[in-house]
Amino acid sequence: MTKTKSAESQKSETPKSETREFQAEVAKLLDLVVHSLYSNREIFLRELISNASDACDRLRYAALTDPKLLEDTSGDFAIHIGIDKPSKTLTIADNGIGMNHDELIANLGTIAKSGTAEFLKSLGEAKSDGGKAKDVNLIGQFGVGFYSAFMVADQVEVVSRKAGDAEGWTWSSNGQGAFTVAAAGAAPRGTRITLHLKKDAEEFLGTPRLRQIVKTYSDHIALPVILDPIKDESDKNERDAEPETLNSASALWMRTKNEVTADQYKEFYHHVGHAFDDPWHTLHYHAEGAIEYTALLFIPTQKPFDLFHPERKGHVKLYVNRVFISDQLEGLMPRYLRFVRGVVDSSDLPLNISREMLQNNPILRKIQAGISKRLLKDLKDRAEKPEDYAAFWEAFGAVFKEGLYEDFERREELLDLARFKSSGADGLVSLKDYTARMKEGQEAIYYITGESTLALKASPQAEGFLAKGIEVLLLADPIDEFWVPTVATYDKRPFKSVAEAGTDLSAIKAAEEEKGEAKDEPQAGEIAAVVEKLKASLGEAVADVRVSSRLTGSPVCLVADTGGMSLHLARMLKQHGENAGPAIRKVLEINPKHPLIKRLGSVGGDALNDAAHLLLDQARIVEGEAVPDPAAFAKRLSAFLEKGLTS
Ligand code: ADP
Ligand code: MG
Repeated sequence: MTKTKSAESQKSETPKSETREFQAEVAKLLDLVVHSLYSNREIFLRELISNASDACDRLRYAALTDPKLLEDTSGDFAIHIGIDKPSKTLTIADNGIGMNHDELIANLGTIAKSGTAEFLKSLGEAKSDGGKAKDVNLIGQFGVGFYSAFMVADQVEVVSRKAGDAEGWTWSSNGQGAFTVAAAGAAPRGTRITLHLKKDAEEFLGTPRLRQIVKTYSDHIALPVILDPIKDESDKNERDAEPETLNSASALWMRTKNEVTADQYKEFYHHVGHAFDDPWHTLHYHAEGAIEYTALLFIPTQKPFDLFHPERKGHVKLYVNRVFISDQLEGLMPRYLRFVRGVVDSSDLPLNISREMLQNNPILRKIQAGISKRLLKDLKDRAEKPEDYAAFWEAFGAVFKEGLYEDFERREELLDLARFKSSGADGLVSLKDYTARMKEGQEAIYYITGESTLALKASPQAEGFLAKGIEVLLLADPIDEFWVPTVATYDKRPFKSVAEAGTDLSAIKAAEEEKGEAKDEPQAGEIAAVVEKLKASLGEAVADVRVSSRLTGSPVCLVADTGGMSLHLARMLKQHGENAGPAIRKVLEINPKHPLIKRLGSVGGDALNDAAHLLLDQARIVEGEAVPDPAAFAKRLSAFLEKGLTS
């Protein structure tokens, strides 16, 4: 009993001061930040101001349900920058939500997300193709922006008091492996960060320099960023200087388009999207009518690193009357547009309801519909320039295609916006292009799925189609396995896989019908005998052996039986440890015109058996499957090679 009690009391007791080691990931990151990032260091200020602004947004939101949290400030939020020349320190202070003891440790000592690893990786990539200037810029994108303070400071102190708490805490570190957390007594609400600047970073004590940095990177911050009068006894001139607001301090999205420059849009995009590239597209509008809202949305140029992570946050922030509500709200953006970043602000949404209830609010749904409509319209306009549009498609097409099965209402529109690699053209083609080029007698839109477009183009299943000049869409995104069966048709034409058994190509007119082909045609009886021999030899290894019209150059290929899952999908599911259901029925198709197949008519016994298995293994390899018995395969192949070489 006593034991339990003491253990419990030990657990609840927070030491007044303690030193802890950084999580290994953070230590590694800090080492890099401190020792190798020297250019573009000014972005530390952007990161700290961005955190301060987030902290104020969060308190403003929390105060909606608990106004006491605001204490006596009545919601006047601001970020103060203080310069102390004699002690060479720069402070950045906010009156936002603050951090308590545990939050200081968790937020400034560990990284919850996979931030560091990804950041380090991207540094490596960026280094190989350019200078360092670009490198540091990425830091905010990976949720590790705070640590950029150590680029300019060799000692950082963070004094923070969480809104609603009586006492504050100090976090301090020199960035070398460990940090200390100690009780700070009655600190002001919010967070004050003091940077003891490195010798070579004293430029950041200059007013003009700070003015320029804030203007460049943080002008769009909706709170005032105020430079406090400089404390410097030796400098009499500055003694009665006034506090100076360095930024415009108004919500950028509420301005009209012609009040915002391209650079301001870009900086805002960097802030809101935690991004560093140029926006590929900017959409800014005020919707009026039944529902009023303002949207400022960006489509990035580059694919964000975490686009496919399931736990990834949304990047469109919802504001209600300039009050930040959430950037995690499902229902604000359709999932297939999750690469979009930006801000939506509406005064028509209720403020005092939970996020969960907001998610299902019919007004939110209407806003989503409005946003989707505008974005798709803009995409349609930009698709007029195929090269420009291709850049978008290469980056986000795989995500966008999720909409083909998720957004039933806009399916036709999305199909028109989709682009594909195809056997019929070098670049990307649209379904409109495809259907306009369809052959006489061709009823379906033919496609093939697999791992790479290059392999698909050379696959035996597509051979016969290509030989006849029939265009085949080459679908190499995993998502393609899922949308095609759901969509089923485009413009009343069915999608049909060339890798499915039972495709009859004879109805389609070839580009140029080959002459004298009939001569090659083996007797029906002969080929039926070959089929029977192969079936007997292969037994259970295949579901069936059939004569095919799809092959021209290859002797055999594997296809999935009609109506079943494609071989590629089955392989994908298996790779991901998913249960693909009952084993898929594979059919070996043979090319009756191929000399090798014809020769099989006159062999039997072991030679036939070996040839049958070699042909099946060969088909498996071409299909991208593993050979189930590599030793037997090698033995048979060697035997055949030996014969071939000696004769
Ligand atoms: P990010 O801002 O992307 O989450 P950072 O490294 O910039 O990553 O900050 C880490 C975390 O530290 C923030 O998510 C936040 O919880 C906390 N934090 C940083 N600065 C402040 C601040 N001024 N006030 C309150 N919390 C802060
Ligand atoms: Mg940050």
